[in-house]
Amino acid sequence: MDTIDQNLEQIRQRIRAAEQHFGRPAGSVSLLAVSKTRPTQDVLAAYHAGQRLFGESYVQEALEKIEALKEYSLEWHFIGPVQSNKTKHLATHFDWVHSVDRFKIAQRLNDQRPGNLTPLNICLQINVSGEASKAGAQPEAVPELARAIAELPRLRLRGLMAIPARHTEFATQRQPFHRLRVLQAQLIDAGLPLDTLSMGMTNDLEAAIAEGSTLVRVGAGIFGPRAATAP
Ligand SMILES: *Cc1c(COP(=O)(O)O)cnc(C)c1O
Repeated sequence: MDTIDQNLEQIRQRIRAAEQHFGRPAGSVSLLAVSKTRPTQDVLAAYHAGQRLFGESYVQEALEKIEALKEYSLEWHFIGPVQSNKTKHLATHFDWVHSVDRFKIAQRLNDQRPGNLTPLNICLQINVSGEASKAGAQPEAVPELARAIAELPRLRLRGLMAIPARHTEFATQRQPFHRLRVLQAQLIDAGLPLDTLSMGMTNDLEAAIAEGSTLVRVGAGIFGPRAATAP
């Protein structure tokens, strides 16, 4: 039974409806399919349903899928916590890293990005208050961090990412996304050409799109519920 293509179509419809409802241009929100913990064959099913952007959180698991699917033109985004002893794999095998929250990690990714590849796309993960995880840079530290990272030639600083705490109420869901949008506007005012807000998941993508998300990261909504524990 293959429901991945039906799920994908439903998520695309939710994105289109939210774009329309909140006055966002059609096609201004991209869909990242979060395939962490899913087998390669699920990624392939999504690919055959037209999906091209995939997000992974665990390096070893991701490398296996990337290797198995190297004949396909997929774009790989790393969205999990970055350990400094894993940066070489990220710099070599990924197109994007969304979860950079300190300069040392950015510096390593810059130094390890192979010269034959285009600069690695980077989002800064921000700890907007009320976040479930402690990961992410503090908002006050972001202007200086962003300026420093923007100087690194093998990286391309694209925008900001956050993983807010789960809420069911729409107005509450919007608050951290709003803070992220305000922070992005400040950085743009300061001369950094950021074009990406990586925010919104299965349960809160409408709230994120209302606040200007350009990339929603959807796992369960496409691939079904995950097992409770990570591999
Ligand atoms: C797992 C994960 C997602 C996807 O969450 P769903 O609720 O399954 O849509 C999005 N972003 C990050 C950073 C994740 O770790």
